[in-house]
Amino acid sequence: MRKPTPGEVEAAVRTLIAHAGDDPDRPGLRETPQRVALAYAEAFSGYGRDPAAALGEPQPAADAEGQLVLLRALPFFSHCEHHLSPFFGEATVAFEAGERILGIGHLADLVTVLSRRLQLQERLTEEIAAALRQVLAPRGLAVLLEATHCCQHLHDGRGIPGRLRTLRVEGSLEARPGLLATLLGDREPPAVAPPQSGSA
Ligand SMILES: [Zn+2]
Repeated sequence: MRKPTPGEVEAAVRTLIAHAGDDPDRPGLRETPQRVALAYAEAFSGYGRDPAAALGEPQPAADAEGQLVLLRALPFFSHCEHHLSPFFGEATVAFEAGERILGIGHLADLVTVLSRRLQLQERLTEEIAAALRQVLAPRGLAVLLEATHCCQHLHDGRGIPGRLRTLRVEGSLEARPGLLATLLGDREPPAVAPPQSGSA
């Protein structure tokens, strides 16, 4: 696939501005096409980067075997492939260590590489799990994503403007009791609201 030239990208943005109903030549919008081109380069910097390489070289760590490693609420920012609209939230990644472990920075980098693409939240969840499975071969793993989808706020009353939660669990963690509570930590609201005395 041929990469468009900067001029072609800027022309496309001008077309979208006109489609929105505004004048791409008015002073406030004149530099917008260049800014959008730069913002896109940033937002989609995950293309051309290998998720497995982002995880680096896992290190042998016999004394960590069987330990639960949990990285909670890593912020991520992505774009839905249906509307080119942002969705953003937090990723929580956990694994029960096998023979190898890796650095926390690598986990964060993996989430960045895979989220800086056109995505579906379900596929992003699966791709994070797949890279961990392939590179780290843990005894078990869990990936929990919670995100707000901007496209759901666009449709007046027809969308679902809540946070979407997706969860992938594999291996030994499938049988772990209370896993979701462990992943959510103290962010899970109580299941039942406390009764309010004297309410009408
Ligand atoms: Zn969407």
